[in-house]
Amino acid sequence: MISLDYDDTIMAAAGEQAEAIIEETIEKYDGNFILAVEGNAPLDEDGMYCIIAGKPFVEQLKRVSQHAKAIISWGSCASWGCVQAARPNPTRATPTHKVPGIADKPIIKVPGCPPISEVMTAVITYMLTFDKMPSLDNQGRPKMFYSQRIHDKCYRRPHFDAGQFVEKFDDEGAKKGYCLYKVGCKGPTTYNACSTVRWSGGLSFPIQAGHPCIGCSEDGFWDKGGFYERLTDIKGFGIEANADEIGKTAAMVVGGAAAIHAGVSVVKRIATKGDDA
Ligand code: SF4
Repeated sequence: MISLDYDDTIMAAAGEQAEAIIEETIEKYDGNFILAVEGNAPLDEDGMYCIIAGKPFVEQLKRVSQHAKAIISWGSCASWGCVQAARPNPTRATPTHKVPGIADKPIIKVPGCPPISEVMTAVITYMLTFDKMPSLDNQGRPKMFYSQRIHDKCYRRPHFDAGQFVEKFDDEGAKKGYCLYKVGCKGPTTYNACSTVRWSGGLSFPIQAGHPCIGCSEDGFWDKGGFYERLTDIKGFGIEANADEIGKTAAMVVGGAAAIHAGVSVVKRIATKGDDA
């Protein structure tokens, strides 16, 4: 159980009563509450693009941050800016950690569009249970959920390794559940827990529903665009190679296996001959 004192979408209070809860929380728990931010602050026009209780959201954010113990940026909007900050970013939407005047407090990013509910819950639970920040990666994301790529634990990975790809939606490969790399899957460059924790109580996730990962938890994913275009800028072998190279390699391995098999047969035959002799 947590005490979710203020949340403008699900709290029972409204209007002045709701806003009074912020003041009450600051007074009662000064320096001892977690500020979890959803969305981002538009800075243009003095923050007029997002108004809460007659005041710019950015002002509320800056003020409350001064009194918080730590800040969580929920989702890709608060973490990176996401769609609102996509070019040309007409409102100058700005992620939490880049808001001028935000308090110098620990900021944890929990990106995803939206973030996975179990991940959100676990981050808060960890902080409340151990009274410390979870270990973060160099981008400020909790390592326990963002240290592996979707691709690392994807159940379609054997098809990737075998060079079996969906070439277009609804083809035979799609029906067989082949890898979605060629139809734009960003799993090889996206760090999140979708392929392990999944969604809706572990029921499924986009790749399981036949849709490539669009990389929604990565910085600037919207501007990178090309949701259905293949990644072309990843290097090396394995997950970094392009799909054609993987396909070729898979064919060579099959060819190599046949040659080894043939070799073993020859040895057997010679042995048999020798026995006969
Ligand atoms: S490219 Fe996408 S669908 Fe294919 S194995 Fe990787 S994460 Fe899974």
